[in-house]
Amino acid sequence: MSLSVAVVGSGPGGLYAVEALTKNLPDCRIDIIDRLPSPYGLVRFGVAPDHQTTKNVSRVFDKQMVKDNVRYLGNVELGRDISYDELKDMYDAVVLAFGTPIGRRLGLPGEDAEGVYNSDAIVAWYSGHPDFENLNPDLTGKAAIIIGIGNVALDVARLFARTEAELADTDTTDFALDAIKNAHFDDIYIVGRRGPIEGTFTRAELGELGELERGVALVHEEQLPEEVEAEMDPRDLREKVANLKVLRSYIGNDPNANPVKVHFEFYASPKEFLTETRDGKEHVVGVRVERTKVENGRAVGTGEEFDIAADVVVPSVGYQAEPSTGAPLDEWGSTVENTDGRVEPGVYAVGWAKRGPTGTIALNRKDSHGVVNLLLEDITADPAKSGSAGVDRLLADRGVRVVSYYQWQKIDQAEVVAANPPAPRKKFTSIEAMLDALDR
Ligand code: NAP
Repeated sequence: MSLSVAVVGSGPGGLYAVEALTKNLPDCRIDIIDRLPSPYGLVRFGVAPDHQTTKNVSRVFDKQMVKDNVRYLGNVELGRDISYDELKDMYDAVVLAFGTPIGRRLGLPGEDAEGVYNSDAIVAWYSGHPDFENLNPDLTGKAAIIIGIGNVALDVARLFARTEAELADTDTTDFALDAIKNAHFDDIYIVGRRGPIEGTFTRAELGELGELERGVALVHEEQLPEEVEAEMDPRDLREKVANLKVLRSYIGNDPNANPVKVHFEFYASPKEFLTETRDGKEHVVGVRVERTKVENGRAVGTGEEFDIAADVVVPSVGYQAEPSTGAPLDEWGSTVENTDGRVEPGVYAVGWAKRGPTGTIALNRKDSHGVVNLLLEDITADPAKSGSAGVDRLLADRGVRVVSYYQWQKIDQAEVVAANPPAPRKKFTSIEAMLDALDR
């Protein structure tokens, strides 16, 4: 009797779990369930469109998808088409790998004003995620503020500053290309409540902001120490030293060297979104921030406040779990409640759903393999579980149109064929369009 496993989510966390399962238990049967027809999660919708080399990891994941004992059940949503309890009843083990797709909110006055777009929406919009096809952000203003100093914040700032030519070989959507092409920001502010040493960005992403065709990176010299003084492990220290070196290379940049000034504003904690009423609607016009200093690693307000004017504001301050799946979440709703990946008997969590929204794609491999080792210690096959046959019956009864891996390959090919070279593909930006491509 072979083990039946459902993996919910086809991003890196889930597919590295599939890799470990098939390696250790070649005869187990795995159903990968994803709410979208397209697999690969953040590889498709999170990795920035101008980072195509990173997206090539999907070729590694393709190898998992074509294994005889692995099925892809795309366009099936946990909590809508099938419940958490039903999955638990049908499979010997369930691996939750659905990530943390909801952008964290700052909870400050004015956050719902027009012109404020959380990074979850903006990143998904320029990546062609079906949920944000109609976001239509207005990028025609003079200034944008990105709140947060992680890599997502840097991705958004960089994409906003890109030229049409720089985006030509990306897989961003036509509507994002149009909006960015027509954006004429004079100023893009990247605002961190802590300093350059505490920033969670990395050297490569910092460096890209110094190489923009129409942008110039600007720093306040007095915010950049000459060296990293904090105590930390040698690897972190090397990364911080490298970050600081890049930031310090921007000292003395001529603000008029290029039309788009990309400002690093450290030690500035957001207090409120400034708004004004236009045509009966509240529109954002800037952000009030408080100057901070860092004490014992924490941002402490100094009482000094100042305003930064902007037409667009993108809070990019982390992510949390989607509550509608029915899986148990921790008390803040941040991640699936788990201990080292164990959720409850027969249920495991991997990836960001397990440990929160941090880390590179590669980090998921070790993490997912570790959780699968626990699963293999805990679980034996139960003949009473209906597995794939049960889920097929249930989804057919409910009229769910399941998209197989073979069908995804047809959608994939249609995107590649429709591309306008040197773009690698032209993404379908709605589920309907993907399903239509299958019916043609
Ligand atoms: P992140 O690295 O955790 O950054 C979140 C940022 O939000 C931090 O600067 C944080 O500041 C700030 N923040 C949180 N709460 C705040 C508040 N109340 N007020 C002001 N600022 C606040 O997360 P991320 O940028 O969303 O990235 C998620 C993960 O994906 C990271 O591991 C990232 O490295 C990875 N990623 C990697 C790449 C790449 O490798 N190219 C690209 C994109 C994403 P504090 O530190 O002070 O809390």
